Amino acid sequence: MTPLCNKCNKKHTVFHRRYSGENLCRSCFMYSIEKKTLQTISKYSMLKFNQRIAVGVSGGKDSLALLHILKKISKRNNNDIIAITIDEGIEGYRNESLSIVKNFCKNEEILLRIFNYKDLFGSNMDEAITERPSNKLSACSICGTFRRRALDLASLSVDADILATAHNLDDYLQTFMINLFSGDVSRIGWMYPRPIEYSNGLKKIKPFVEIYESEIVFYAFHSRIEFQTDQCPYMDESIRSEFRSFFNDLEKIHPGIKYNCFNSMNKLSKIVKSVEKNEEVKNTCLNCGETSSNNICSVCTTIQLLDLRKKNFSN
Ligand code: SF4
Ligand code: ZN
Repeated sequence: MTPLCNKCNKKHTVFHRRYSGENLCRSCFMYSIEKKTLQTISKYSMLKFNQRIAVGVSGGKDSLALLHILKKISKRNNNDIIAITIDEGIEGYRNESLSIVKNFCKNEEILLRIFNYKDLFGSNMDEAITERPSNKLSACSICGTFRRRALDLASLSVDADILATAHNLDDYLQTFMINLFSGDVSRIGWMYPRPIEYSNGLKKIKPFVEIYESEIVFYAFHSRIEFQTDQCPYMDESIRSEFRSFFNDLEKIHPGIKYNCFNSMNKLSKIVKSVEKNEEVKNTCLNCGETSSNNICSVCTTIQLLDLRKKNFSN
């Protein structure tokens, strides 16, 4: 027989949290995720009353679950919520998720704004793949560079104070490793979850940063949120997939190791952040005027690489 929930001692267990040994019924599990999100928001001082929050929503389980929880919290905090979706222009993949996001926002009465790479940067992802100078410039590095800028521009265009994204604990571990293995130590300092205010006035928050991806899937499923399950056709180009499998395999053998690893990485990130702050040299991109550590920012460099290739094709 299924054991009773450790929290309420009344209902049957639907979720066994291996790293803590807890058995939880549906309502205690759902409550635990919402409580953890609130605790993370408060621990890192992510939100204040009356702020306008732009929530980056892709149509996947993480971002829709975040939108769902922030909408609940917003009533208490008097926060204004706007969903923003970035259409990368990936045929057959983004179309389905766009209709999921539209339906979700309509049902939850949330304002939705959609932006796309083609309008913002001149090429959509499918075009960028054919225009890129070589496979060494991976789809995800083009897409990640464009998405960060697109989310910033979209948030500013809706007058948001805060940009919330649904990066979870697994994403954090993978990103740390990607930065480490690519020698990009300064980016490790940017990962610390306490938000900093950028020169454009925007603050970025990740309220799911201390929650396992598998628990967010379970939350989304039990909230009856319809989400996209198809994978992006370009995802295998990223080393992220290898780190995902690596950490999942470790967690199977050593429950809780992801959480320990998160704590260590977060401490390191805080140290790097404080060192970098002292050495910080702020530049602006000579081309677009956005903050950049180089003379030309990564977005403008990517657009130039794609443009160059386009011109060579047409000659
Ligand atoms: Fe973009 Fe890579 Fe994500 Fe696909 S998997 S949407 S290319 S970042
Ligand atoms: Zn630039």
